[in-house]
Amino acid sequence: MMRLPKLAVSSPETIEEAAGVLADLGDRAVVLSGGTDLIPNLKRHQLTVDTVVLLGRIDDLEGIRVEGDTVHIGARTTLRAIVDSELVPSVVARAAGEVASPTIQNQGTIGGNLCVDTRCFWLNVPDLWRQAAEPCLKADGDTCWVAPAKQHCWAVSSSDLAPVLVALEASVTLVGSGGTRTMRLADLYVDDGIDYLTKSPDEIITSVTIPVDRGLDATYHKLRRRGSVDFPILGVAAAIRRDDAGVCTEARIILGAVASAPLRATEAEAALVGEPFGAESIATAAEAARKLARPLYNTDLTSRYRKRMVPVFVKRALEELAAE
Ligand SMILES: Cc1cc2nc3c(=O)[nH]c(=O)nc-3n(C[C@H](O)[C@H](O)[C@H](O)COP(=O)(O)OP(=O)(O)OC[C@H]3O[C@@H](n4cnc5c(N)ncnc54)[C@H](O)[C@@H]3O)c2cc1C
Repeated sequence: MMRLPKLAVSSPETIEEAAGVLADLGDRAVVLSGGTDLIPNLKRHQLTVDTVVLLGRIDDLEGIRVEGDTVHIGARTTLRAIVDSELVPSVVARAAGEVASPTIQNQGTIGGNLCVDTRCFWLNVPDLWRQAAEPCLKADGDTCWVAPAKQHCWAVSSSDLAPVLVALEASVTLVGSGGTRTMRLADLYVDDGIDYLTKSPDEIITSVTIPVDRGLDATYHKLRRRGSVDFPILGVAAAIRRDDAGVCTEARIILGAVASAPLRATEAEAALVGEPFGAESIATAAEAARKLARPLYNTDLTSRYRKRMVPVFVKRALEELAAE
């Protein structure tokens, strides 16, 4: 059995107090929301901190509300509440329902999902197994065992909600010791398995804002080994707008779990825009996404198989939208 290391617990009542604790303690503290990602990582000694900062006593971090043309979701809102909500765009509820399993959806939150740690099978193993090899780059070693020639960490962005919310052009509001700011969710991510978020360590996501755009059709398709529990090994979020003649006027295709950040397939999008939205442009877009994606052998199933699945899943997602 893996045990948690001894930890101090801070349970602030305001978001400013929480940000203050994080600013004071620096990398010795970390935010805990639902804990479904953080607790296993702490048990595996993937990160070492001496304090966890709980968000559970802070009011206003939970709940879903509609304001004009936007939906606001508090960062501590559980995935289950999102699955069950009639206020969020249906594609968001669908992606939340694809995360892990119902038990984890009851506990895991949207804020935690968007900040979920990048994954790699050189890292996500018990401490003892990791000690059998030289530590990898993300574990403070010198070498990335996935691609030893490069001084870069390729651990995979593994959130199901991130590709969907990037495709919907969502934004996040953050509070830190320096104040409050709102940014595009896409700008939260960096394609680097170690420093995968642009937010500073003392910043806490307080809410996610999604524009409600009734002319946009969106979907999410996920590949994983089993039908439940498993993280994505490929996620495809697609959002399409068409005019009355059926010509695609806007497209966003975001690939999850093939890089350290959600990956925007801009050439695939360009293959759709200005064309009748149908079999021909979909096939060209799927091929463009295949060329772009370079999954590595760092998570479940082989990189070759995952790459071959990229056009298959892009095609499936777009065909679903075309059929609507
Ligand atoms: C068996 C298993 C299967 C899983 N499968 C999936 C899957 O299929 N898809 C998927 O997307 N995830 C999966 N997960 C990961 C995780 O359960 C979910 O991503 C979940 O939504 C994380 O939310 P949480 O509230 O539990 O995050 P936590 O564990 O509390 O936190 C995760 C990270 O986010 C940070 N954080 C949390 N909240 C905030 C905030 N408000 N502001 C700033 N930083 C914050 C924490 O410091 C931590 O670094 C799985 C986990 C397990 C154990």
